[in-house]
Amino acid sequence: MIIVLKPHATDAEISQVIKRIESVGLMAHVSKGTERTIIGAIGDERALQEAPLEAFPFVEKVLPVLQPYKLASREFKPEGSTINVDGVLVGGQRVVVMAGPCAVEGRERLLEVARCVRAANGHMLRGGAYKPRTSPYTFQGLGEEGLKYLAEAKRETGLPIVTELMDPREAAAVYEHADLIQIGARNMQNFKLLKEVGCRRKPVLLKRGMSSTLKELLLAAEYIMSEGNYQVILCERGIRTFEDATRNTLDLSVVPLIKRLSHLPVIVDPSHGTGKRELVAPMALAAVAAGADGIMVEVHPRPEEALSDGPQALLPAAFTQLMGDLDRLAAALGRTL
Ligand code: PEP
Ligand code: MN
Repeated sequence: MIIVLKPHATDAEISQVIKRIESVGLMAHVSKGTERTIIGAIGDERALQEAPLEAFPFVEKVLPVLQPYKLASREFKPEGSTINVDGVLVGGQRVVVMAGPCAVEGRERLLEVARCVRAANGHMLRGGAYKPRTSPYTFQGLGEEGLKYLAEAKRETGLPIVTELMDPREAAAVYEHADLIQIGARNMQNFKLLKEVGCRRKPVLLKRGMSSTLKELLLAAEYIMSEGNYQVILCERGIRTFEDATRNTLDLSVVPLIKRLSHLPVIVDPSHGTGKRELVAPMALAAVAAGADGIMVEVHPRPEEALSDGPQALLPAAFTQLMGDLDRLAAALGRTL
């Protein structure tokens, strides 16, 4: 349930509510808005029947959360969340662009793409050091070596790093170098992994599972948030359907739907969402038109040499062109790039 306090409730009053919630074995999650504080009580709410929180004079109202996800819901937090990724704000005015190769393939290649992303005014550098591949015989990523190249690329360009974490055993290494921890589509319901990133304090990019419903995506976010980490960015990256003309079916309708149901920022990945280079720019623009907070795209200077996902990689020139188009679109929508 959600406990809405009267405007300008004091810290002492907030503590009293938290104490009461915790005394009956529930967890309290505090969300401080500019005027009001809202407190979520998570757990078996029947425990509070004996000690109704409405009795406190500084409590304005107590509301049940109708959705199965609580902390991720708009009901819990009516204003949109903004997540700070090493200085880049996701969920605000700016349309945020994360770009880079599918995988970190080597030092020089990564630096080449990083410079191109920087030169085109991209905001973050993406690249997998640990790759979730369908076949065990294909390139699995450079691991820690790849993380070091990402760190070097950040030192040179200043771009924050987005990279995937696949296994809690690799968390220490990934957390040392990454600014935004990606949980890939295949791991969206890897609950141990979700709890791992939930108890750490870096922002998480949670990609929608390829066969997951929106409710399942929001419940996966809830796993992370219920451990105390509220810094979650959602990502639509296409789902499996009968359509085989594209790699996945990019479900852009979830963007405005997520905005209604949740306060969390949402970005779109049209690279995995389509699997085809020529579809990436139009769908990136469509995503922003639909209200996405940003996009993530794969870029490679020589896609024919790429060790993974070459067919969906944008060439640097096409990426630069896309940035120009996004800039004009953002301006038309009253936003900035
Ligand atoms: C990726 O972004 O590198 C990736 C593997 O994406 P997904 O998990 O969406 O397939
Ligand atoms: Mn990829």
